Amino acid sequence: MAQAFFGGIHPSDHKAATNKKPIETLPPPAHVVIPMSLHIGAPCKPCVAVGDYVTVGQQVGEAAAFVSAPVHASISGRVTAVEPRLHFSGVPVMSVVIENDFSDTPCPSIRPPANPDSLPAEQITELVKNAGIVGMGGATFPTHVKIASGIGKVDTVIINACECEPYITSDHRTLLEYPDEVLGGVKVLARLFGVDKVHIAIEDNKLNAAEMLRLKIEEEKAPAEVNILHTRYPQGAEKQLCQSITGRQVPPGALPAAIGCAVFNAVTAAAIYQAVYQGRPVTHRVVTVSGSGVKEPRNLYCPIGTPICELLDACGGVDKKTFKILMGGPMMGHAQYDMDAPIGKGTNAILAFCKDEERTVEHPACIRCGKCMSVCPMRLQPVFMYQYERAGMLRELEAANVLDCIECGACTYICPGRLHLVQSFRAGKQRINNAKAAAKAAAEAAAKAAEEKKEA
Ligand code: SF4
Ligand code: SF4
Repeated sequence: MAQAFFGGIHPSDHKAATNKKPIETLPPPAHVVIPMSLHIGAPCKPCVAVGDYVTVGQQVGEAAAFVSAPVHASISGRVTAVEPRLHFSGVPVMSVVIENDFSDTPCPSIRPPANPDSLPAEQITELVKNAGIVGMGGATFPTHVKIASGIGKVDTVIINACECEPYITSDHRTLLEYPDEVLGGVKVLARLFGVDKVHIAIEDNKLNAAEMLRLKIEEEKAPAEVNILHTRYPQGAEKQLCQSITGRQVPPGALPAAIGCAVFNAVTAAAIYQAVYQGRPVTHRVVTVSGSGVKEPRNLYCPIGTPICELLDACGGVDKKTFKILMGGPMMGHAQYDMDAPIGKGTNAILAFCKDEERTVEHPACIRCGKCMSVCPMRLQPVFMYQYERAGMLRELEAANVLDCIECGACTYICPGRLHLVQSFRAGKQRINNAKAAAKAAAEAAAKAAEEKKEA
């Protein structure tokens, strides 16, 4: 059975609103906005122009570097703009806007690869790359990079089906309704990494999905094993999950590959199956729309790039007492200010909350209870990090390992003083990284000036 990771919390999961509701297809949107940045890494370059007719699955943005992932049209129709548009991160990002012709014409170049069972690892990795697959659990790291950098180093492959954030049930419903696609991806990963079995990690609040997967694995003699873990947040965080499954701990500043592990979200596994066996790129995803502000919570299958307002409308609209709308879960999600922002490849939920759930107080104050330290899964000291960040003590903040903070929000959740801890750490990390970039630029400029002086 699983090893325990340090800390963590047990918030109410609020999953009952949607975990028994089958996935429904969103009514087609009138237009989609496909940002060139739907992943961690270099943004894509648009490869279509205004006036072009595009089909579903056609590439509209080319990967600009190895750590990047192409983007594809999610509807068919005419390109009406190629320009910066509001992104869910809150800033404008170069985007391709497509007006829907409602014909759903598929891209003619999409066809199943020949002999997918006998393809070598390099070709499978290329298919994954061309399909624009990224971590669909929200991390959005390009999957081909994780595969290419892990082959030969990884002895343990883990499928993350924990879905530990409250409210979200999109992975759960995908496991129940598309287990063959998830297991198809699991088999591809087992072959790629040369492992006898892949660990499918799932929390004990999804036992129906765990049972279904176990039966399928047995029937198909698939190279996989289901590992049921206690429901505890953040069980699905990569480093904590590696420890839960293997007992190994990822060193500070390192990635799971450093301890021989590779972690893939369950929906990412399904996307790998679709790319390798059907030739399909990532154009759609399942999104949970829930929270106290949503009238009819649902799980919706949506084209990537659909404006948030379309999803909320399909769920009966929001309550007029709604004060906050999040993309992602209540612990790690990001507040949205404009409902025209599009959903991305990593958008697993849109949540709306009513005013009576507001926990912010006018004067947050630390009472030195130490609870934040007891729940931090990275064994950090949030109370001190907060003080350093507020005082602008960046050296001390970095020495307190703020860069190891996984921004899980457990400390903010537990804090009786209602301090905005995780927001402060996000800002602190940004300031440290900015300071490092400025120091590097200054050193390079000084070296260049010295070189020019020598030559003169
Ligand atoms: S949990 Fe909040 S109030 Fe308690 S020590 Fe940490 S920051 Fe202070
Ligand atoms: S947000 Fe960061 S500091 Fe707070 S509990 Fe999570 S890892 Fe620890």
